[in-house]
Amino acid sequence: MCPPPNDVLRAEKWAAQMLTRGPWNAIPTDALFELGDLGFDKDFPSLERLGKASALRNVLTSRGFRSSLQGACEEPVGDVNARLAPRRREWHDETTVFFLKRIEDELDHIPQQLADVPRRQLQSKIYMCLREAYGDPCLSLLRRRARRWIEGGFLHVGELAAASCFRDNMRRVCALVPPNVAFSVVRFFCNAFPTSRRFQAEARCCDFCGLEGADGIEHFLSCDRVALFRASTFQYGCVPWDLLFVLPATDKELIGGAVLLDCLLFALRARRINTHGAQGVQILNARYKHLRVRHKSLERGLRAVEVV
Ligand SMILES: [Zn+2]
Repeated sequence: MCPPPNDVLRAEKWAAQMLTRGPWNAIPTDALFELGDLGFDKDFPSLERLGKASALRNVLTSRGFRSSLQGACEEPVGDVNARLAPRRREWHDETTVFFLKRIEDELDHIPQQLADVPRRQLQSKIYMCLREAYGDPCLSLLRRRARRWIEGGFLHVGELAAASCFRDNMRRVCALVPPNVAFSVVRFFCNAFPTSRRFQAEARCCDFCGLEGADGIEHFLSCDRVALFRASTFQYGCVPWDLLFVLPATDKELIGGAVLLDCLLFALRARRINTHGAQGVQILNARYKHLRVRHKSLERGLRAVEVV
């Protein structure tokens, strides 16, 4: 019945970014609100849109809204006292009734789309309409991130084709692996791995091969130790992760690639915290074993791609 305060909206964005733990806002909050478009079961609901949807639902279903608005706006005709004390006051603009009126004016195109919608589904339908009106933040984010890989010479397809194919692959990945593993793929493509280069700090040594100044996401594509882990864990050809999920792939390839990226992300995070002093490659192996044991649904898929 009232708009969420700016402080709450700021806290919402901060919380969403903290939950995804991405450096430098690599995956903008607008895209996090649309993760369902990439195949994830859940995305972050936007409080601002929820507030608007709730307000419009109240406008459409409230019995008292019209009469309250009428009483607050219309001046009595022919009453000289009304000229001394006009009914409309400045503080009216701050009231709930006038907030609802502003929402009704702003979203005047939506009620036409709600003709056959049951009352209990009104709010969710209005929310969907607001989502559709917002464009496609996930695809535009993927296009921006694809451009970076293309300019770096890692991709040789068009920006839109890369983004569209990545999105199609992600929708399948989400059905094949747990959501946290699938999200590692998004983080890799969006350059949201916690490398020193990503944090714009002086590049550290690679956590896996120890190469000086190589702590950047591009290096992992050609890192010897990562390649060794890949070759010793996955059957040859099952993990074409250097194609960055932007070409049509089989289920096996998607599972293997997603698991490899998740192991890589986990090892980088663990090395940053460094409470156990383990080597990068040791953490890669430990994470792989953990995923295999922890996620029974993943075990069958991994059995089909791993080295026997
Ligand atoms: Zn390396």
